[in-house]
Amino acid sequence: MKIGTATTMVTLRCIDHQCNTSFPASSSMTHCHCGNLLDVHYDWPDLNPRELKETWTSRRTSMLPEDQSGVWRYRELIPYLSPEAKIITLREGNTPLLKAPRAAAYAGLDEIQFKHQGFNPTGSFKDNGMTTGVSQAAALGKKVVACVSTGNTSASMGAYAACGDLKAVIFIPAGQIATGKLSQALDYGALTIQVDANFDVTWKLVSGLVEEAGIYLLNSVNPYRIEGQKTIAVELLDQMRWEIPDWIVLPGGNLGNSSAFGKGLRELHQLGFITRLPRLAIIQAEGSAPLSQLLERARTEKKSPYELGLLPVLNPQTLATAIKIGAPASWKKALRELEATQGVCISVSEQEIADAKAVIGQSGIGCEPASAATLAGIRRLVAEKQIRKSDNVVAVLTGNLLKDPAYTLAYHQGTLSFSKENQQIPIQSNFGNQPNSVPPDLEQIKKLLSQ
Ligand SMILES: *Cc1c(COP(=O)(O)O)cnc(C)c1O
Ligand SMILES: [Zn+2]
Repeated sequence: MKIGTATTMVTLRCIDHQCNTSFPASSSMTHCHCGNLLDVHYDWPDLNPRELKETWTSRRTSMLPEDQSGVWRYRELIPYLSPEAKIITLREGNTPLLKAPRAAAYAGLDEIQFKHQGFNPTGSFKDNGMTTGVSQAAALGKKVVACVSTGNTSASMGAYAACGDLKAVIFIPAGQIATGKLSQALDYGALTIQVDANFDVTWKLVSGLVEEAGIYLLNSVNPYRIEGQKTIAVELLDQMRWEIPDWIVLPGGNLGNSSAFGKGLRELHQLGFITRLPRLAIIQAEGSAPLSQLLERARTEKKSPYELGLLPVLNPQTLATAIKIGAPASWKKALRELEATQGVCISVSEQEIADAKAVIGQSGIGCEPASAATLAGIRRLVAEKQIRKSDNVVAVLTGNLLKDPAYTLAYHQGTLSFSKENQQIPIQSNFGNQPNSVPPDLEQIKKLLSQ
């Protein structure tokens, strides 16, 4: 398979401009000696955007695995694997862009489109990054890959490791994983270890261990995962026939995906594929919103957010487990992308997330709780007049509805609640849809039908 363009120089580079240290592309490092994260850096050859856009379109009818993948189809923008390298793909990407008038009306918009990453092989956008991350692990000759995950990362890594014949080790903060995701990890044959601690504590434990045991770490600090995820933005623009939306809205947890979108958009701009950048909006859950809190502090104290530094949320709380992260690893990267795109970051309540999720369900689309933070956030930003009614808005639905059936059932049955400062706070099922039970009696069934 022919993958990279041999003429592109690839290095890993520290994101701190003052430091700017480079490492070989074959390094397994995720952090610079100075403590900052690394980026995949390209010295781009001359690319012809018009020709490449046509090439990408023509690949849509190809039978080759690397053309059928919605990630590797755009391989000219991720040219880091050697032409001989084996690509581990489950035909990820290729996710639809869906209009949803009911959701648009709920948010106060004329129109909204959802880029639904829940249509991926394992049901979340993590697949877009795992195909590149696991392929890189294989290219480096690694035998074992590992991650700490509250869910979708483990499901995805399990699948891609199995597909590429690598051993997968998954560390799960105990009791913080939705049943759909845990069952996937087990089914894909991953060694699954539940640790009796939250994500941030488990992460500290494992990062030490990983270096000692020589295993390849595939959390979103892995720069090659970000390269795969950035193609979601490329595929999105391709689907929009390169019309540029005003806003792209994402939920924010560890902030890897927001960073990936920003990097992808900046590179497209730099290479002449697009003439301006959409604005990014990152939405966090109120009980787990360290980035939104940092920006708020920076505004009130009139200081640079870098200077202030991120204050981790020590006991993050939200039912949207995919974004329940108190100390997001990629906060500096995300901040850089917010600055580049004139973006915003806000937080929304559990009630707002739950209702937005139900409205997305009523649109026939459905998603997992974290994804619904987008619609809730858009509704707020429209109310605050940051987003205009007529703006072209795309929200990224990050995960599939079936990931967390317990949440959905509890919402519709009116039993959903969350804990805040040791209190159980009930969630109102404002858009609830109770299941009905009847005896085998025609009259009673007729009564229900006429409601
Ligand atoms: C991982 C994940 C997120 C959060 O993405 P980050 O890159 O950690 O910010 C949001 N939603 C879903 C469904 C996820 O799986
Ligand atoms: Zn550095």
